[in-house]
Parts: sequence; C-alpha cells; structure tokens
Amino acid sequence: MSITDLSEQVVAGRRISADDALQLFHHAPLPLLGRLADEVRAKKHPRNVVTYIIDRNVNYTNVCVARCAFCAFYRPVGSTEGYVLGFEEIFRKIDETIALGGGQLLLQGGHNPDLPIDWYEDLFRSVKQRYPEFRLHALSPPEVIHLTRMTRQPVAAVIERLMAAGLDSIPGGGAEILVDRVRKILNCYNKATADEWLDVMRQAHRAGLRTTATMMYGHVETVEERIEHLTRLRDLQDEHGGFTAFIAWSYQPEHTELGGHEATAMEYLRTLALARIVLDNFPSIQASWVTQGGKVGQLSLAYGANDMGSVMIEENVVRAAGASYCMDEVEVVRNIESAGYAAKRRNMHYEILGDPFFRLQQVPRMLELAVARADGDTSRPEELSQYAARSAAEKRLRGGTP
Ligand code: SF4
Repeated sequence: MSITDLSEQVVAGRRISADDALQLFHHAPLPLLGRLADEVRAKKHPRNVVTYIIDRNVNYTNVCVARCAFCAFYRPVGSTEGYVLGFEEIFRKIDETIALGGGQLLLQGGHNPDLPIDWYEDLFRSVKQRYPEFRLHALSPPEVIHLTRMTRQPVAAVIERLMAAGLDSIPGGGAEILVDRVRKILNCYNKATADEWLDVMRQAHRAGLRTTATMMYGHVETVEERIEHLTRLRDLQDEHGGFTAFIAWSYQPEHTELGGHEATAMEYLRTLALARIVLDNFPSIQASWVTQGGKVGQLSLAYGANDMGSVMIEENVVRAAGASYCMDEVEVVRNIESAGYAAKRRNMHYEILGDPFFRLQQVPRMLELAVARADGDTSRPEELSQYAARSAAEKRLRGGTP
C-alpha cells in the first residue's frame, strides 16, 4: 500500500497491520507521521486538554537478583550500597507528596530476595491505614512474578493478596521489548518472558485493576520487534481494555553493562507517533520528558501524546543511567500551556481532578529531584528484623544464623 493510502486508512480510523506500520516507520516523512498521530489524538481527546499527575516515584529497594544488562540502578545482594527504605521513610515521602498536591506513589524496586510478600502487605496496609485516600500504583509485572516465585503462588493469588492489602493499580515497567530474542540479549528473559509480562497484565485486568504499558527501545531490537511489541499490547488491550496509557522511553546507556548510544529525538518522535497510530485502542499516550527533556517532551504533544506523565519529585533509576531532567508542576504546566493546551491535573484513571494545584494553593518550587536516600545514609529500617531473610548476608545482619 502507498503512504498516501496508508495515511487515508489512519485518518479514516481503520486499524493498520504490522506490515503497514513498518512501511510508515521507514517511509513516511516525520512531519506526516506527526500529523497523522495528532489527528488520532485529537479524535480521542477533542477538548484540547493535556493532563498530568502529581505523584512520587519511590524505589523501595535497589537490591536485585535480576541483573538486567541495561540497568544502572540495581546493586547485588550483600552490596554495601544496597538499601531498603523503612516504612517511616516512605511515610515521610508521602507527606511531602501530599504537600505538593500529590495523591499517589509510583512504588517500584529491585527483586530483593530478603523482602518476603508480608513486607509488601504490611507496607501497603500501613499506608492505607494512615492515608486512606492515597493511591498505590505499585509493583510492575516482573516484581509480581518475583513474588510468585518467593511465595510459590500463582499470579492471580499474588495479585489478590496485594489488592487486599491496598494495591490500587499496576505500573507497566519491565516490559522493555516484548520479544524473547531481545529479552535474552538484555538478560531480562529470566525476570519475565514476554508472555509472562503480558499474563500478569491480563490477570490484573481480569481482577479489575487498571494498568499502564511501557516500551524501552533503542538498544538491540529491530524496528520489526518494536512493532511486534506494540501489536502484542494492542491484542491484549482488545481482551479487557485494562490499559490506561502507553509510555515509550529510550534506553539510557550510561553506567550500564550493555553500553552503547541513546536514540535521538527524531527517533523518539517517530516511535511515539507510530505508537499512537498502532495503539488505536489505548486512550492515552504519555510524553516521556524524563528521558527526553522538557523541550522534546513538549514537542511530543504534537506527535500523539495527550499527557505529560508525572510531575517528577523523586527519580533514581533513569538518573543512575545518566539522565536527570527535573520539572516541577509550574514547569510542566508552562510547557503544556505554551504548546496551546489547557493543563489539567488527573489521577491514575485519567479522571480530571482540576486546575493546576499551585494556582489553588502556594507550594514550594521543586528545582532539584529528590533521591531515595541521601548519599552516605546506610541506615537500616528497624522493622526489617521482623521478616525472614533468604540470603546468607542478610541473615547475618538480621541476627539469624546464615
Ligand atoms: S531493571 Fe529492575 S529488575 Fe532489572 S536489574 Fe534493574 S532493578 Fe532489577
């Protein structure tokens, strides 16, 4: 099919195949791809509104046995740089988030063998007890799979336990590229195969949870594999419609075992626009200004994105790999409005909560990103001693016999 015919198909709202998507990616000029993606966005979001959420990205531990080749964040079991946040530290982070107008934590971490599922359940319950309205957008599919291995319980049972403790929704992290050839090279096949990642999301949607989906591109995958990732997400979305949004970010190579280069802004915009066109059953597409910076993030709004993601209060993972862009609410709103849209706060379900918080109430400017722990802070939370450890190193620290 010619690019003109394909463009007409997209404008008419008809689904495109993987072959069509490949042709568009390689042969459509970038401005055309942007125009098509923008038309699709405008049909789904006719009110000229761009949304964002105020939440805090908290990484509860950096200890991880998965050892993905693209990750600069994790530390192996027993490392002196490994940490687990205490419940009190997490409560303090929630208090700071609420003061800035936020109502949710995005809570993710490493696959730490010394945190049993009851640690997660106790944390979720105590958060909900203190802050009944506060939302927990927590534990990406590979973390859920890690807990199925720790508990020897099936995915549905682990999700049920976490929901009973207070889990509100699941973030789409750990998808990388949903093709096992790529996952094996990235050393993330063992943490979750493509089918396993999709199955956690399927079970979550069946249980009534809404989730997001992500893609980390620009490392060892081909464009065909990028498109396979998108069509697999589209197929799953056809089943239950549980995904609220899609977020694509480029691989950040600094300090990683894999190394290499970061994809350019042009490649990001082309990938983003194609995602908006292929994912015809996804309501929202986020701009990834955290990896692309504010200016490309703003440009994303002309390439299919209708959401600026989260006001970033804290970030540890992308920063470890070399990127640390910071935008507080004032800056996010400035970028949305100067692109010609009305800026609205939302929750994880993309329900509009209202106008920018800083216009309703005075809030401190956040000109620097917070971190999980201050440099040199090696404190250990007291409550850790109540939980059974698995590794010899941690058993020694908790006072048991290794
Ligand atoms: S990406 Fe996640 S699972 Fe992989 S090594 Fe890093 S912390 Fe562990």
